[in-house]
Amino acid sequence: MMTASQLLAAHWDGTLPVDIDLIARRIGVEVRDLPLSGEDRTISGKIEHPPEAHPVVWINRSEAQVRQRFTLAHELGHHALGHLRGTRKLLRDPAANFSSAGTSLVEREANAFAASLLMPANVARFAVHEKKVLDITRLASGFNVSQAAMRFRLQNLGLLHG
Ligand SMILES: [Zn+2]
Repeated sequence: MMTASQLLAAHWDGTLPVDIDLIARRIGVEVRDLPLSGEDRTISGKIEHPPEAHPVVWINRSEAQVRQRFTLAHELGHHALGHLRGTRKLLRDPAANFSSAGTSLVEREANAFAASLLMPANVARFAVHEKKVLDITRLASGFNVSQAAMRFRLQNLGLLHG
């Protein structure tokens, strides 16, 4: 099991936005485009870890780029946190799994992992406290995440009030 901080320490050069495609490659996760037909056309992504093979993540490329990045980071979370151990070899993620409320523990863990990976705490703190950047649009653009994800992360880090 790996935390987001451990992944960043090992596979991130410290520049923004965090290159999660590179991190995926570095930890042996293959990334593919989700076929936009059949039962998977309505989901945001999925991850499968077949026995004796490397994990594969599928991303819905019809969604916004910031959303695709969050989906990939979320799927990497399922892998890094060991959610695919035992009999569970496949996890599918409809849009509802990315909401902050009403999802299962593993989904909330994967979302927290994704936020930590895409918006490293020390960089967010530095931007707000040292560089005095408080504009959500500008911060979200720097991290290449959605404004909603940026706002939620700042709230969780105690950097945004109200
Ligand atoms: Zn998930």
